[in-house]
Amino acid sequence: MTERKREQLVIIGSGPAGWTAALYAARANLSPVVYEGEPEGTMLPGGQLMITTEVENYPGFPAGVTGPELMEKMREQALRFGVRAEMENIVEVDFSVHPFRLKPNYSEELEALSVIVATGANAKWLGLPNEERLALQGGGVSACAVCDAALPHYRDRVLAVVGGGDTAMEEALYTTKFASEVLVIHRRDQFRASPIMAERVLAHPKIRVLWNSRVIEVLGHAEIEAIRIEDTVTGEVRDIPVGGMFVAIGHSPNTAFLRGQLDLTPGGYVRLPHPWRTATSVEGVFAAGDVMDDYYRQAVTAAGTGCMAALEAERWLAHNDFDPARDVAAAASST
Ligand code: NAP
Repeated sequence: MTERKREQLVIIGSGPAGWTAALYAARANLSPVVYEGEPEGTMLPGGQLMITTEVENYPGFPAGVTGPELMEKMREQALRFGVRAEMENIVEVDFSVHPFRLKPNYSEELEALSVIVATGANAKWLGLPNEERLALQGGGVSACAVCDAALPHYRDRVLAVVGGGDTAMEEALYTTKFASEVLVIHRRDQFRASPIMAERVLAHPKIRVLWNSRVIEVLGHAEIEAIRIEDTVTGEVRDIPVGGMFVAIGHSPNTAFLRGQLDLTPGGYVRLPHPWRTATSVEGVFAAGDVMDDYYRQAVTAAGTGCMAALEAERWLAHNDFDPARDVAAAASST
């Protein structure tokens, strides 16, 4: 007989969605446990805000707040209400049985009556050595122009936006509000973006497109100074001085561990079958934040959906007559 720890609610992920869900769930006496994840490169517990310097568009902080500080405050607020936090990833789930089974990377498998998936999405990076370092230290490299382009660092400078999809078009257009010039760097001679977005970019007087161009190095120590570009047709290499670089080559949702367990979209995001609900294809499993949102991707929208997921989990547990005293305590003696 295997004894498994059983939880009422397990929250996987520790960005704004995860901590907000935890806060609401704790205040509803669901005694949630958050699996925060463990650090790996630019993927950190706390999520993408951990690699964002200043956050100026999160309501309630009139003077702005740094991404890590905002996440620490959210964590602290949730812990104040008794939320438990585990610094592990959940690497495997079995949603075909109830209570659900979850496997953390180091400790024993556990059971959960309900689960909120809030594992977020990661911006894709070019994979250049200096790129990650400068992004981590706020040195003028970012994967979110909407979050960062208004910061003083980027004002009145030549800024590069890498990519040829709709995100790159959007980021390039947004960036023109602050930059002296915007260079869109695309590896082919044609954009992938929708024609209307591409046309706006091509018509913008502040934007210049460098076609058939690949960034092969990011130059600069404390801050980005230039990018080294290779022409993909001629092989010619040149350095272009820039004050910032926005990488806009897409996002990957952190859902590999959910494959075969939850319905996902073709892009790998958790599919939510009902509009304005966070319920997933499996009853009792909810999703919040960027893991289910490839459209808004903002800290405040992630926090909002975290709140929604906690309220839905609470109602689902009550509706199904789960009783913590009976259903959670009893687990210690069952298989
Ligand atoms: P995307 O459509 O997959 O485009 C990614 C772009 O990055 C492509 O142009 C691709 O080049 C380039 N790229 C990928 N890997 C690269 C690498 N290693 N080095 C250099 N370039 C690389 O991603 P997205 O732009 O984030 O859009 C995702 C989805 O969201 C799309 O369906 C999009 O329409 C949607 N979206 C819509 C809006 C809107 O309607 N306002 C805004 C944003 C996003 P290639 O073209 O050569 O493959």
